[in-house]
Amino acid sequence: MHTLEIKDLYVSLTESPEKSIVKGLNLTIKAGEVHAVMGPNGTGKSTFSKAIAGHPDYVITSGDVLLDGKSILEMEPDERARAGIFLAFQYPSEVPGVSIANFLRAAQQARLAEGEELDATAYYKKLYSKMDMLKIDRKFTSRSVNEGFSGGEKKRCEILQMAMLEPTIALMDETDSGLDIDALQVVSAGVNQLRGPNLGVLLITHYQRLLNYIVPDFVHVMYDGRIVKSGDKSLALELEAKGYEWVKQELATAK
Ligand code: ADP
Ligand code: MG
Ligand code: MG
Repeated sequence: MHTLEIKDLYVSLTESPEKSIVKGLNLTIKAGEVHAVMGPNGTGKSTFSKAIAGHPDYVITSGDVLLDGKSILEMEPDERARAGIFLAFQYPSEVPGVSIANFLRAAQQARLAEGEELDATAYYKKLYSKMDMLKIDRKFTSRSVNEGFSGGEKKRCEILQMAMLEPTIALMDETDSGLDIDALQVVSAGVNQLRGPNLGVLLITHYQRLLNYIVPDFVHVMYDGRIVKSGDKSLALELEAKGYEWVKQELATAK
């Protein structure tokens, strides 16, 4: 079974490595589990997910990230992706003139070993079966990537990309995306379709509402660069009722 272990992780901006944004984060995600990470704006949620994916703007200064017991820190971002780590949504937001079908095909091709050719028939078979599973109209794949897309259409494209790449660990950062109701439904239906014994999901959000649709196995609160509280889905409800001030006060009294 696949496992991602984040151990005492410290992350800084590459341009100012002396100042930590993520400060001692610990988290283990196993295939089959959905973890929600919540927390106030600016606590380093996006930073830590991008650092795990290998984003060049961020540097891991201490700690480790293990996929199935093996450190990924020396791996290039594309190697991490090939190893099964998917960050939604690490691709350019708009790719004019490139159809979704061709974009996804290039992403599949990139997964293969050098010199290996993607089989077009097999690719389309897989694409159409994933689209059927996600109830996406066939016409959708001839559109250009994100060009003139609604929030819901962007999410449909991202979920389809995730379905095609079949990651073992998916990091989804929904915090700043301003989910409208259509997008919310697309994301939740997609994640609920894809969740299962072979996929671990880390869902970053500050919308408690999203967790009414995607019921997480674990909820974590991130504050000041680390996880300060973990629980089950009821923690999300408690947060909604009491706010993050409650967590801050608990931390202050614990000191
Ligand atoms: P969250 O996702 O929890 O809202 P972020 O990870 O986006 O938090 O940001 C954490 C802190 O790091 C913030 O103070 C933010 O301004 C800073 N930060 C993150 N990425 C960058 C960046 N690329 N350039 C400058 N500052 C950044
Ligand atoms: Mg933010
Ligand atoms: Mg963020």
